[in-house]
Amino acid sequence: MHCPFCSDQDTKVIDSRLVAEGDQVRRRRECLVCKERFTTFETAELVMPRVIKSDGAREPFDEAKLRSGLLRALEKRPVDTEVVETSINRILHELRSSGEREVPSRLVGETVMKELKRVDVVAYVRFASVYRDFQDVSEFQDEISKLTLELE
Ligand SMILES: [Zn+2]
Repeated sequence: MHCPFCSDQDTKVIDSRLVAEGDQVRRRRECLVCKERFTTFETAELVMPRVIKSDGAREPFDEAKLRSGLLRALEKRPVDTEVVETSINRILHELRSSGEREVPSRLVGETVMKELKRVDVVAYVRFASVYRDFQDVSEFQDEISKLTLELE
């Protein structure tokens, strides 16, 4: 950490404490060269990776889009709102914990499908049929029979 006053690299931490309910660490530092003191705040990075679309374009992760996609798949299904929220959080967590700054949209889709499969099979099939854009009926039936096998 460079000293903001003289840019020297030799600074030492003289105090360190948790702030913002433990989400942040506040550090007092002193520059060993000019003796100036300054404060730094450290927060865990919880940013979502950017999404690489199939045409190579990058776009910011869109949580609203994720939510509406899930809700559409779960329409009229007997699934609690709370379960939906937990699923969304799990998907966000999984994508974040990949540690990647960018992830292909395919990975986002696969993560959503994996989650829906646990929550509601009908919603999973709905989502998969839109997402995978099945070319014909037999492809779709293949997926269903695979699913049936997995559930047995
Ligand atoms: Zn300094």
